[in-house]
Amino acid sequence: NFTAEVVPQAPEDPLFGLMRAYRADQDPNKVDLGIGAYRDDNAKPWVLPVVKKADETLRNDPELNHEYAPIAGIASFTSKAAELILGGADSPAIREKRVTSVQTISGTGAVHLGALFLARFYTGSKKVYLSDPTWANHNQIFSNVGIPIAKYPYFSKETSGLDFEGMKAALHGAPEGSIVLLHACAHNPTGVDPTLEQWKEIAELLRVKKHFPFFDCAYQGFASGDLMKDNAAVRYFVEQGFELVIAQSFAKNFGLYGERAGCFHVVTSPASDAETTIARIASQLAILQRSEISNPPLYGARIASIVLNDPKLFAEWEENLRTMSGRIITMRKALRAKLEELGTPGTWNHITDQIGMFSFTGLTEPQVLKIRSDFHIYMTKNGRISMAGLNTKNVEYVAKAIDKIVR
Ligand code: PMP
Repeated sequence: NFTAEVVPQAPEDPLFGLMRAYRADQDPNKVDLGIGAYRDDNAKPWVLPVVKKADETLRNDPELNHEYAPIAGIASFTSKAAELILGGADSPAIREKRVTSVQTISGTGAVHLGALFLARFYTGSKKVYLSDPTWANHNQIFSNVGIPIAKYPYFSKETSGLDFEGMKAALHGAPEGSIVLLHACAHNPTGVDPTLEQWKEIAELLRVKKHFPFFDCAYQGFASGDLMKDNAAVRYFVEQGFELVIAQSFAKNFGLYGERAGCFHVVTSPASDAETTIARIASQLAILQRSEISNPPLYGARIASIVLNDPKLFAEWEENLRTMSGRIITMRKALRAKLEELGTPGTWNHITDQIGMFSFTGLTEPQVLKIRSDFHIYMTKNGRISMAGLNTKNVEYVAKAIDKIVR
C-alpha cells in the first residue's frame, strides 16, 4: 500500500513555493525577484511583438491542423535551431552532416533527453560534473536517469566572479572521460560567464582529459542581446572538433515559457563514418523520444519556426532580444549606481559584471529572509535575484532595502 513510509511527503519546489508566497503577499510595494521570466518596465509579462506576428500568421493559415508532429519534431524548426546554436549553415558540423536534432519539451526536456541518451550509450566515466552552484533541476534530472553527480567550484564568494582556478583544478582531478555540464551563456544562478580566453582554456583541459561537454543553453540572445556572442563558447568547441551535446531552450529568448519549445542536438567529431554514426544516434533518440512523449508539442515550435525561417521576422526578433537584454543591462547599471550612491557597505561592481537574467547579490540567507519579511522583496535563499523583476519604479526601493539589510 502507499503508506506514509512508502511515499514520504516531498518538499515543495523552492522556486515555485517562493512564487506562491509572493502572490499571497498583500503589500503594495512587494517585488518579485524570484522566478526567471522576463518582465517589462511595468512588471508585466511581455509577449514579443514578433511572436504576436507569427501567431497571426499561424491563425490565418487555412491549412493549419492539429495532427501529430513527427517523433523528432518539426524539421523546419529543428534545422534552424541547430543553425542558431551552431552559428549558421556554414558551421563545420552542419556542412559535414555531423548533427542530429530532436525537438523537446523546452530546455528541461532537452537536458532530460540528453541525460537519458548518455545513461544508455555513454562509454566514458559515467559521472556528470555540475557547476557549484547550478540550476537546481540539473541535479534531479541526472539523478533520475541514474547518472551520479559531482561538483566543480564555479563561484568565488570573494570576488563574486568566476572561481576559475577552482574550476580547472576540479575538472583536472575528475576521472578521465567524465561528463561536464557547461552553461553556454548567462550562467544560472550566478550570472557569471567565463571569458572567451577562459573558454579556450576549459576546452583544452577537456580535450586533454577526454571529458565530454554537455552544453545547456537556455539564454541565447538574452545575455548580451547578440545571438552570435552568446553561442561563442559552443561554436569554439565545435570548431575544435569536440563530440558534444547541446540542450537548447526557446523559453526565454522567445518568451515562450509555457509553450515548451526546445531542442536537443548531438554533434559528433569529424570522422569518415560520421554520417553513419549520426544516423544511428538519431535512430536511438527516436526510440527514447517515442517511449517518453511520442512526439513533441506543436505551437511553440511553429511560432519559433516561422520567425527563424523568415529573414525579416528574424531581424525583428533580434530587435526584441535587444529590447529585453538592454532593459536588463540598464537595470543592472541602475541598481549598482543606487547602491554606490547610498554608500552601501561592500562592492557592487559584480552587479554590472554579471550577465543575463540573474545576479548573485552576495546576500546571506538570513538577509534574504529579512528583506522578505521587512520589505516584501522576494528572492531565492542563495541571494539570487532575477534582474527582470527590477524596473524604473522599484529599483530605488530595492536598493534602499538592500542598503538597510546589509548595514
Ligand atoms: N537550463 C537552465 C540553466 C535554465 O536556467 C533553464 C530555465 N530556468 C532551463 C535549462 C530550462 O528551462 P525550460 O525548460 O523552461 O526551457
